[in-house]
Amino acid sequence: MSDSAFIAACMEKVLAGGRITFAEAERLLATDDVMTLAECANAITRKFNGDVVDVEALINAKSGRCPEDCSFCAQSTFYETGINKYPLLSTEQLVQNARMARDGGATSFCLVCAYRSPPEKDFEQICDAIVEIKKQVGTEVNVSLGFMTPERARRLKELGVKRYNHNLEAAESYFSKICTTHDFADRVNTAKIVKEAGLELCCGGIIGMGESARQRIELAFSIAGLNPDEVPMNILIGREGTPMEGMGTIDPLDAIKTIAVWRFVMPKTILKIGGGREVHLKDKERMALKAGANGIITGGYLTTGGNEPNKDIAMIREIGLKAK
Ligand code: SF4
Repeated sequence: MSDSAFIAACMEKVLAGGRITFAEAERLLATDDVMTLAECANAITRKFNGDVVDVEALINAKSGRCPEDCSFCAQSTFYETGINKYPLLSTEQLVQNARMARDGGATSFCLVCAYRSPPEKDFEQICDAIVEIKKQVGTEVNVSLGFMTPERARRLKELGVKRYNHNLEAAESYFSKICTTHDFADRVNTAKIVKEAGLELCCGGIIGMGESARQRIELAFSIAGLNPDEVPMNILIGREGTPMEGMGTIDPLDAIKTIAVWRFVMPKTILKIGGGREVHLKDKERMALKAGANGIITGGYLTTGGNEPNKDIAMIREIGLKAK
């Protein structure tokens, strides 16, 4: 069977509610027929997700000094990366940032903190900030606070948090290459706690860290097994001072193919292109939103800048989609 016929057959299977196999996903990722792959991933996205692009703003609410050694991360205490480190921002600052994000067009606001897990005092302060953002700004609040206990996850749910982010980051077979202070199972455990508490799960990973094509598929299947509502795909920017400095020169078409195949594997999730898109996708950013992605993070990331929200929203409209 030709590549284009094979891609179309996989698409028909997914459109009919079926699932592709690991081997089929591997063959899809190996194709040179990027245009057909992108078009079919787009057809799956439109069928299950309509023409809406989810636009989210992040705030790094507590920066740096994380005791973990994730080798891609500029916030780890193990590496001297020259980032701006600061303790947890005040409730007033967080409310103000949420207001600015809402006024800039973002409908959800994600409060991200660099912790293994927050100390009790910080957790209480974050809970207060969530209450105030919901009361004063009215935007949807998502959080990313590291490892969770069932009690804390239930508390966040009671406060009205919509979604909790906890990424798997890398394939299980590659995880020990990127982190030694915790393991893949620890990450899966928190993802499960989040789901059990009734929170929506945002769970994704990073590509371009030296993993094989097979490991990109392995990661997609592990994430899919957790039934996440949202999947952020980040593309490594090898930050100065980290062990991954200088890495992360992924071919934009490779990134597009990976997005498309993840869409085949996870037809109904919000598939969000996160950190690295401005650097790596270059002129293919628009193509990514027509090749399986249906979400973007706008206005910058935890330790790197990004596009301005109004420019991103204009781009979404220009390609005939709607920003949510
Ligand atoms: S746990 Fe999170 S914040 Fe800490 S080093 Fe790893 S990726 Fe960075």
